[in-house]
Amino acid sequence: MTASTPTYEDAHGEDPSSGILRASVFGASDGLVSNLGVVVGVGAASASSGPVLVAGIAALVAGAFSMAAGEYVSMRTQREVLERELAVESDHIAEHPGEEEAHLAELLADNGLDSATARHVAAEVHREQDAALEFHARFELGIDPSSLGSPLGAAAGSFLAFVAGAAVPVVPYLFSAAAMLWAIVVSMVGLAGLGAWMTRFTGQRWWFGAGRQLVIGALAAAVTYGIGTAVGTAV
Ligand SMILES: [Zn+2]
Repeated sequence: MTASTPTYEDAHGEDPSSGILRASVFGASDGLVSNLGVVVGVGAASASSGPVLVAGIAALVAGAFSMAAGEYVSMRTQREVLERELAVESDHIAEHPGEEEAHLAELLADNGLDSATARHVAAEVHREQDAALEFHARFELGIDPSSLGSPLGAAAGSFLAFVAGAAVPVVPYLFSAAAMLWAIVVSMVGLAGLGAWMTRFTGQRWWFGAGRQLVIGALAAAVTYGIGTAVGTAV
């Protein structure tokens, strides 16, 4: 909230952990919204806390595994695609160094260097295969070869984040049989907090992020409460 001058790092936010943090905040929010729906829906259909606990814990575990598996597969696939592109480019540079050097000079000229400087830089860079690949990766493929992403890290992060979020509406049922009100209250507090936190990454006002998450959570709870009540009276 203070108007202090941002540092270069603040203004160019390339903290490598910020991607993981962002994924964790969104994962926790997913867990919270979905399990609030489960807890309120089953709670509306059932007079005792047993079924709510079973459903809440089952949905927590299933959701966390599903999130982690999805994250792992998508990161793994993306990484394999990038590694393959890098391997093809590396072969090209080894087999057709002249062509690739001329191509890099063109790309650098397209990026604003005058053509003599571009040719000079391309020649310099092409003295070493590693440096050449690095430049071709960035300028031609748009890949940062040093950060292709970690599938296992992403999977573990989203698993833990989902569990943390999904546990929030379940915990009150560990202490009380009629815990729906508490489940809703702590979930709303959690959603508002996560929503406000998300605005660190989206740049919106904190109250807008908090309010939006509250509306999403309230909608999920209202819909599953309605379904739970209808099913509960029907069976
Ligand atoms: Zn190339």
